[in-house]
Amino acid sequence: MAAVCVACGAMKIGAWTPCTKCKHDATTDTGRARALLLSDRNLDAAGLAAASASLKAGEGVTYDEDKVREIAVGIATAPVPSRIGLIMVTVGFLLLVGAIGLMVVLVIRWLISLAA
Ligand SMILES: [Zn+2]
Repeated sequence: MAAVCVACGAMKIGAWTPCTKCKHDATTDTGRARALLLSDRNLDAAGLAAASASLKAGEGVTYDEDKVREIAVGIATAPVPSRIGLIMVTVGFLLLVGAIGLMVVLVIRWLISLAA
């Protein structure tokens, strides 16, 4: 996802990643909503370039505050993606361990049946 830093106007990858230029990192829901509005989820390439140019020129950008609030509420109530990822990795790992354990048991039983 291409995005523009809401603080300095630098182009960056991902709306919620720290800016590589000014280290600005959106931590509040409102800040993250503004960051999302300045990403390719909301703007096309020309819109991103225009927002970047006016932020770099120190003019700032005007946000649709209704939209900012709406997105901020969505962010506040949405489940944390990293936690979902962690749960999926954990479940996947447990399934893998279970499958390997079952295979080991079957192989051991097969070896025992060969020896008998
Ligand atoms: Zn920046």
